[in-house]
Amino acid sequence: MKKFLIIILLLFGVNGCAINVPESQANPIEEKEFVASDEELVAHFIDVGQGDANFIELPNGDTMLIDAGIASSGDDITKYIEDLGYTDIDYVIATHPHADHIGGMAEVIESFDIGTVYMPKAVSTSKTYENLLETIAFKDLMINTGKAGVEVLREDDLVILMLAPVQDSYANLNNYSIVLKITYGNISFLYTGDAEEESLEEITGDLTADVLKVGHHGSDTSTTDDFLGQVRPKYAVISVGDKNSYSHPSKSTISKLEKYTDNIYRTDLNGTVIIRSDGINVDVKTER
Ligand SMILES: [Zn+2]
Repeated sequence: MKKFLIIILLLFGVNGCAINVPESQANPIEEKEFVASDEELVAHFIDVGQGDANFIELPNGDTMLIDAGIASSGDDITKYIEDLGYTDIDYVIATHPHADHIGGMAEVIESFDIGTVYMPKAVSTSKTYENLLETIAFKDLMINTGKAGVEVLREDDLVILMLAPVQDSYANLNNYSIVLKITYGNISFLYTGDAEEESLEEITGDLTADVLKVGHHGSDTSTTDDFLGQVRPKYAVISVGDKNSYSHPSKSTISKLEKYTDNIYRTDLNGTVIIRSDGINVDVKTER
């Protein structure tokens, strides 16, 4: 246990890479005409059953992994990314330390050259979390604190910005979830981890997004009318296990989403969902 605490302190000790900007300055792409290029953003919502695993091929050639499912998914996620031809992942983001989000992450981190790791400053005493921290330490990586206002990347037509967590502590671990918005040209993607109402209503940044990775596997505690009214999604993806014991996604979440879009994809029904964009258009392909 003592060793574990030391690892946490060491890993979170240095935080130099994260660029914090006041949220008032944290605007998405500057207003200007965007000309679509051949460079695409490809967002993979990998079917990992009841859990989350999102891999993103950014238009600048960088790659990003947001969450890595349960422990037994580590293998599949690793193979999936290898099959795309990658040997490194530039950004690894663990939205929050629950086993259905970080379970397979240690294995993925072991298997690739890793750039920057972001995690919220939440503490868990679970074996899964401890194992992940040990793997990160073993690979001589640092953890950058993920929180509202952190700008992961800013280029001409590509901005990646964290909108939550806003506070330093929450009673519910889900509310530590890093909420991340990727804007490429005119198109934006919003990833909300398992953030619930308490966290979502604190967000002051611009939540508008074309593609919403629906929070908390479609539970009714994460998708409020007020939140959706700000996001106004044109596409929604729910990462959820077939016949899961939580009855996710909830019927009320689906009907709330249907007020905004008929383009609702679910990994339990559609398998892995791949959404690509040239910054103007959006194209969706599903495994089934
Ligand atoms: Zn979850």
